[in-house]
Amino acid sequence: MHLTHTPRVALVTGAGRGIGKAIAERLAAHGHTVLCVAKSDSCVAVANDILAKGGKAKAYKVDVSDPVAVAAACEQINAEYGAVEILVNNAGITRDKLVMAMSDQEWNEVISTNLSSAFYWVKGLVRPMTKKRWGRIISISSVTGVQGNAGQANYAAAKAGLHGLTMTLARELAGRTITANAVAPGFITTDMTEVLPEEVKAKILEHIPLKRFGTVTDIAAMVDYLASEEGGYITGQVFSVDGGMAI
Ligand code: NAP
Repeated sequence: MHLTHTPRVALVTGAGRGIGKAIAERLAAHGHTVLCVAKSDSCVAVANDILAKGGKAKAYKVDVSDPVAVAAACEQINAEYGAVEILVNNAGITRDKLVMAMSDQEWNEVISTNLSSAFYWVKGLVRPMTKKRWGRIISISSVTGVQGNAGQANYAAAKAGLHGLTMTLARELAGRTITANAVAPGFITTDMTEVLPEEVKAKILEHIPLKRFGTVTDIAAMVDYLASEEGGYITGQVFSVDGGMAI
């Protein structure tokens, strides 16, 4: 299906690598101006790459877990661009441990980076978005937020929290033609999963009915659809893109 994309301003967190980078590149290819956020300079390289290909992009080095830094970035972005119309909350980290061994710091780091960050960006960007009367808020959660996973209590709670936030935003913002959805990837090959030992990867593969790991393109394609004009009647949903893991 050919998707319709009217050029808009999009912001992607965690755009420096992996899934976020693929989403940023895909949105830029549709003609959107893509604001690429990461913790390090990785976002500069991605924005420069998009610019070199003739697209529109700008890099913002922001720690998404810091509410003051996010608020300051939002203020600057709203002043410069008027409004962000497509927000993709993708930045995320893992700090895996069984609950008995997990420190308060490991819990809080994951909650603030994966969940509170989405609230900070929405809070900072939503007012001008409502004035545009068109918007897409897409949050990248995880299969772990759908079914839990031993060793990932912090991550599962954060990702399931994104689902609650998504359903609530869908209800609060529908009157302004703003949709809110979550995409729940299964096991996608990126830096985040590369660090896992081969035997763990082999075990995970046994639980994937489609018998392969996902690619960043598998996730970017779903985001592409939700961000398009054709995705405009879908809101408050969680879409698993996981090769069947969460069936
Ligand atoms: P990744 O390769 O590790 O990349 C993570 C990105 O998030 C990086 O660009 C990183 O910035 C950014 N980031 C992390 N903490 C940040 C912070 N405090 N402030 C700003 N940016 C921050 O991860 P990925 O595999 O692409 O995952 C992307 C999202 O998909 C995450 O939310 C993850 O939980 C979710 N997900 C991934 C999988 C998977 O199998 N890979 C499965 C389910 C869900 P730097 O580049 O500056 O480090």
